[in-house]
Amino acid sequence: MKQKIVLISDFDGTISKKDFFYMVIDTVLKNKKDALLPWQDYLNGKIKHIDAMTGIFSQIHLTQDELDKFISTIEIDPYFYDTAKYCVEKNIPFYICSAGTNYYIKKRISDTLSKYNIILVSNDATYSQQNGMKLIAPEETSPYYNSNTGIAKDKIVQKLKNDGFFTIYAGDGKPDFKSAKIADIVFAKDMLLELCKKENIKTKSFNDFNDILSYIRSIDEQ
Ligand SMILES: [Mg+2]
Repeated sequence: MKQKIVLISDFDGTISKKDFFYMVIDTVLKNKKDALLPWQDYLNGKIKHIDAMTGIFSQIHLTQDELDKFISTIEIDPYFYDTAKYCVEKNIPFYICSAGTNYYIKKRISDTLSKYNIILVSNDATYSQQNGMKLIAPEETSPYYNSNTGIAKDKIVQKLKNDGFFTIYAGDGKPDFKSAKIADIVFAKDMLLELCKKENIKTKSFNDFNDILSYIRSIDEQ
C-alpha cells in the first residue's frame, strides 16, 4: 500500500480480554450493586465516563502489592504481541488510546510498549489504599482533551488522518464510537459493533488481533 498506515486501538476489552473495571467489580469489590452504580449512571447519561471510572476504582482498597498482583492478571490477547512486532518491523505506528488509565496499562504491558515503540495515550491516575484509584484527565488545553472521557480518542484519529495516514481503528465500546465514524477501517465488537450497525458504519469482523494482523499484512503487501 502506498499510503502510510497507522493502527489505533482501544485497550480494555480490545487488547485485554475483559474491561479492567469489570475485573475490579467481579473480583475485588464486595458490594456488587454499589460497585456498578457509577457505570449505570454513565450509561443513563447522568455522569461523565471519567467520573464513572473513578467512581468504581475509588472503591478499591487493596494494598499496593495486592493491586499490582491483581493488575498482572489482566489477560492480554496473545496476538496483540505479534501485531505490535509486525507494526514496528514495518514502520507502522501503533497507538493505544484508552479512556481508562495508563496506571494499569503501563503496569501490565510496559515491556511491550517500550519494546515495540507503542504510543500510549490515556488518562493518568493516582492510587492509595485509603482513597482508591482516581483518574486524572489531561489539561483542558490539551489537543486530545474531552470533558466526558478525559482523553479524546477521536481527536487522535483525526490528527493522524490529517497527517495523511490510512487509519485502522479497533475498539469495543461507546467511547470508541466517534473514532469509528472517522477511521478508514474499523474493527468493532460488542457495544461498538452495535452502535456502528445502528448508524450504518462499515466494520470488519474481529475476534482477536490475529484478524487485525491478517488484514494489515494483506493491505501492507499490496
Ligand atoms: Mg474498550
